[in-house]
Amino acid sequence: MKIRSPIVSVLGHVDHGKTTLLDFIRGSAIAQKEAGGITQHIGATEIPMEVIENICGAFLDKLEIKETLPGLFFIDTPGHEAFTTLRKRGGALADLAILMVDLNEGFKPQTYEALNILKMCKTPFVVAANKMDRIYGWQTHEGEPFSKTYAKQPANVQSALDNQIYELVGILHREGFESERFDRVENFARQVSIIPISAKSGEGIAELLTMLLGLAQQYLKEQLQIETDAPAKGTILEVKEETGLGTTIDAVIYDGIIRHKDTIVLTTPDDVITTKIRSLLKPKALEEIREAKKRFQKVDEVVAAAGIKIVAPNIDKVMSGSPLRVVRDDLDQVKEEILHEIEDIKVDTDEMGVIVKADTLGSLEALVNMLQEMEVPIRAADIGDVSRRDVVDASIVTQEDDLHGVIIAFNVKILPSAAEEIKNTDLKIFQANVIYQLTEDYHEWIRAAEE
Ligand code: GDP
Ligand code: MG
Repeated sequence: MKIRSPIVSVLGHVDHGKTTLLDFIRGSAIAQKEAGGITQHIGATEIPMEVIENICGAFLDKLEIKETLPGLFFIDTPGHEAFTTLRKRGGALADLAILMVDLNEGFKPQTYEALNILKMCKTPFVVAANKMDRIYGWQTHEGEPFSKTYAKQPANVQSALDNQIYELVGILHREGFESERFDRVENFARQVSIIPISAKSGEGIAELLTMLLGLAQQYLKEQLQIETDAPAKGTILEVKEETGLGTTIDAVIYDGIIRHKDTIVLTTPDDVITTKIRSLLKPKALEEIREAKKRFQKVDEVVAAAGIKIVAPNIDKVMSGSPLRVVRDDLDQVKEEILHEIEDIKVDTDEMGVIVKADTLGSLEALVNMLQEMEVPIRAADIGDVSRRDVVDASIVTQEDDLHGVIIAFNVKILPSAAEEIKNTDLKIFQANVIYQLTEDYHEWIRAAEE
């Protein structure tokens, strides 16, 4: 038995500061060499508790959880799309999340999207109200906790910040969340904490990490216990070509152990496959994997939480966001479980309903969930580009029920044969790369049609 680090996702609209925050946290970890530095993973960074204690200082005193957690495991979010992809059976891969919002810009489509997904997955989260150093008249105090730097600001700057925070409180309220600035929260189980920060100057990050550990203490005690000798479970982050290695898969392991000669079960769009690992790789240096080239190091085994690159035959068609499972002597059972998991997402319940297409299992699941919440009947939901068959299917529905005879497509293309077929119809296709946008557009269109 072991307690693993909570897996943390940083979400939010593009340019609101996700990368800058991770860079700041990583940077302070690197600066504190004596504290053991950080552990570099494929697609993720683990910040050990010692480093967090150094950043947070006395704020952590009241939190017992710091004694048991090895650290925090941050997933590098290259773009927002990745989050919808990052799922595991029964919910989100991330145990906790930080929702990044640029204080000066407020909520943007991808912020709403991220919030919706957090809601759907019931992921505990805090809101980081970023770029507070950009508030007019703000005096920066590098690396200081929010409480200190705030106290040093002139009254008009303080109230400008407070006004921006109340804007966020208002929006969150409309979205169904009660929230408050973290130091005014009375009930952490009912209110979401908003922590004003500057990812650039590091102000407020002490409180941000403290609140995150507070959530871990409140919600994650059992979820983080893993069997260190159980066959690994993970989620595929990405499938990619790597010079000299061929096709590789990057995966986050959230449970158990994976060894370099294990057999693994993976998913392609039309099959569940087995393959034998050729090598397990970790990054060598302190660099983000997305920039590193040929900088991998072979390892014999890793225990969750871990980010790992896998070289194995026949993995070209494996889907990002799909499950990975190590098998020992229970191959049939594992295959069965994975098939079930996928079938659960690819609903096809209603004769007369919409056709849903998405790029990954995670985005399909999120989209299907949101449509079900809107009580939209679904005829078929599947992964992949919009095909001629989808068009034919939707056209059949249109003949009897034109409000549901539509295709709703997330982050996929329309195949040429489908485009050709559409010409013969007046079928409506909704396309977007923000799920929230798709459901809004569809809702709007129905409302207009019913008037
Ligand atoms: P991402 O797209 O969410 O990963 O956003 P980035 O981290 O790439 O940040 C986008 C831009 O905002 C960059 O130019 C950052 O330097 C800048 N930025 C991020 N955080 C802050 C902040 O706290 N203060 C200021 N002034 N700029 C910031
Ligand atoms: Mg970024």
